[in-house]
Amino acid sequence: MELNNLLRENIKNLKPYSSARDEYSGDAMVFLDANENPFNEPYNRYPDPLQRLVKEKIAVLKKVNAENIFLGNGSDEPIDLLIRAFCEPGKDNVVTIDPTYGMYQVAADISGVELRKVSLTEDFQLNINDILGETDKNTKLIFLCSPNNPTGNSLNKDAMLELANQFHGLVIIDEAYIDFAPGKTLMPELEHYPNLVILQTFSKAWGMAGIRLGMAFGSTELIGILNKIKYPYNLNILTQEKAMLLLDKKVTVQKWVKLLIAERDKMEKLLAEFPFVVKVHPSEANFLLVKMHDARGIYNYLVEEGIIVRDRSKVHLCNESLRITIGNSEENESLLSALKKLI
Ligand code: PMP
Repeated sequence: MELNNLLRENIKNLKPYSSARDEYSGDAMVFLDANENPFNEPYNRYPDPLQRLVKEKIAVLKKVNAENIFLGNGSDEPIDLLIRAFCEPGKDNVVTIDPTYGMYQVAADISGVELRKVSLTEDFQLNINDILGETDKNTKLIFLCSPNNPTGNSLNKDAMLELANQFHGLVIIDEAYIDFAPGKTLMPELEHYPNLVILQTFSKAWGMAGIRLGMAFGSTELIGILNKIKYPYNLNILTQEKAMLLLDKKVTVQKWVKLLIAERDKMEKLLAEFPFVVKVHPSEANFLLVKMHDARGIYNYLVEEGIIVRDRSKVHLCNESLRITIGNSEENESLLSALKKLI
């Protein structure tokens, strides 16, 4: 696969914005280059456009080189950038699974790029032949999500790698929930599959949805392309500072993840006992997809009780199902108490 052949012509020819800080190297003392205000340190200064310090820490954590990391304003940013870099509006297309995370569709729609959905099997797994059958010479990207949102299961690893083997474009694996699925990441495969891109986020296991910090991992060349087209200062100083602090709290995060997995397993059992629950799908994420009689009615009842879950009953393969995030034990208890009143 030649990445350059996949790239849109205008991106190939793009001369990226060059910021003041990009144009010097060395130890300067006086910065009169960027029209900043000398007062209100340190927030008067533009942030590091390549977030070098944050990437150094993430590189150690994820066992990759810093040049294989892209950082974005949530992982929604690389989703959008990948489509904009590779897909010519009105001509190229992307393929994804159904059901899955809604932003692939929204990002494609915003860019005027066709998105083709391929149904998962009844047990929420990939059908590789169906996926490859939807691709053509204008298919640039395949978006997969594992563990998948809203189904909660991890996709079969061999099937994902087989797709990466057979497809001529990029295969993007969205691993937003991977910290809840020990041993399932495809990160070690990155070096063997140059067309693989992995997305992760600090919004879930790391508890930092509010600071907006997402990651894309891929070949040096691919990361270079994303860096070339991103907003120059896409991550602000506050986010970078907070990330530096939280990246030192790996042990705390591991405790949260352990607790949430234990709560998830408990909720899986307890929810299955309700007479109106048809099925609790096994999950490797921090949520459960629960099929029940009259899901919409129960959703509305829970809203009245002040408890908000996600109604997925109109989503393909998810009829009569609610997606329930795993909260702390008190929050989960509130949900169970409210549901008990229905019996
Ligand atoms: N991917 C998936 C599968 C998600 O469910 C979400 C958020 N719900 C995201 C990406 C977006 O994450 P971020 O907050 O990093 O933009």
